[in-house]
Amino acid sequence: MNDFAERDPAEVDVVVIGAGQAGLSGAYHLARAGIGHVVLDHSPGPGGAWQFRWPSLTYGKVHGMHALPGMELTGADPLRPSSEVIGEYFAAYEERFGLRVRRPVDVTAVRDGSDGRLLVESASGERWSARALINATGTWDRPFWPRYPGQSTFRGRQLHTAGYPGPAAFAGARVVVVGGGTSAVQHLLEISEVAAATTWVTRRPPVFRDSRFGEAEGRAAVALVEERVRRGLPPQSVVSVTGLALNDAVRAGLDSGVLERRPMFDRIIPTGVGWADGRSVEADVILWATGFRAAVDHLAPLRLREPGGGIRLEGTRAVRDERIHLVGYGPSASTTGANRAGGAAVREIRRLPARETSGAPALAGVAAS
Ligand SMILES: Cc1cc2nc3c(=O)[nH]c(=O)nc-3n(C[C@H](O)[C@H](O)[C@H](O)COP(=O)(O)OP(=O)(O)OC[C@H]3O[C@@H](n4cnc5c(N)ncnc54)[C@H](O)[C@@H]3O)c2cc1C
Repeated sequence: MNDFAERDPAEVDVVVIGAGQAGLSGAYHLARAGIGHVVLDHSPGPGGAWQFRWPSLTYGKVHGMHALPGMELTGADPLRPSSEVIGEYFAAYEERFGLRVRRPVDVTAVRDGSDGRLLVESASGERWSARALINATGTWDRPFWPRYPGQSTFRGRQLHTAGYPGPAAFAGARVVVVGGGTSAVQHLLEISEVAAATTWVTRRPPVFRDSRFGEAEGRAAVALVEERVRRGLPPQSVVSVTGLALNDAVRAGLDSGVLERRPMFDRIIPTGVGWADGRSVEADVILWATGFRAAVDHLAPLRLREPGGGIRLEGTRAVRDERIHLVGYGPSASTTGANRAGGAAVREIRRLPARETSGAPALAGVAAS
């Protein structure tokens, strides 16, 4: 039995799970409002999911990274890995605003506790009792691997974007890249420089956009995802509905044929992939750039899911439980959206009854509103 098992859970007003863009934004607004809280994160250091992104994803390749509230990210070298740039930025942010993140703390379950409070459980046995929860656990921890007939017979290597080590690992290999998003395109452009051959397969023909992606287009994309979430369906990522940016590198990839796309294969064979019409491609590696799902399994005891498989939200608030806010989920799953959602969640939490404000960590450098 560990030390925590016999202790009462620590009482706190709000628990924030996750210290990525969404969680830090929530923590900033909680501190600003003087609401006591704890931020729990199971990753080893600051940076949210950015700390795990591959070294060749330089800061210059990141598009539309929005600053956290109250502190700009300025003067970053576009050639440095985004994992380093954003990791350092988040660390400086936590320091500047005195946001004390408890890490590594792996939250395993959130349940209904006593007296209308929530009980947050962690892998170490440590527990918290809270009046409200901001869940900001992102998607990185739940890579999505589709299943295809024959998958287990493949003699080569299969990996997902979440484990992409950078292009050098593919030198001389024949690589099939699966998926129609930005990650697939970035992988192909890099890998094709060193691989023996690359093949790109997607379920739907990719949509490239060469017009400027302005605010109106951004709002329209978010509205599409918002509508799904309102209907209780699993959200698509905002990034997935914005189309693929047609920049110089992508144009070059289209011209050279690297970004010539084939329809999705029908089966996996020991030596590669095959289509129903009898064609096949030999491969040493299948790289699944097939996206991620919301990492919300720890919320299962609260039964928030609708029959459609998603969690219905009104703004950031779960329709089935007003104590729960999901930020960085669905329509707010972008750096811009996560930022706004943190503030929106805190505004709603302030309206919840039985407010307790004791124990709020001091927020350096920002006046409480
Ligand atoms: C490859 C890739 C590239 C992207 N590029 C861009 C871009 O260029 N511009 C853009 O706007 N958006 C981009 N996005 C989307 C962007 O990353 C997200 O919208 C945003 O950064 C996510 O922030 P977040 O706080 O919601 O999640 P995360 O950054 O994933 O943070 C979640 C945190 O929760 C923690 N956590 C998860 N589960 C638990 C648990 N059970 N217990 C404790 N802690 C937990 C994790 O350790 C992590 O630190 C990209 C996404 C991907 C996958």
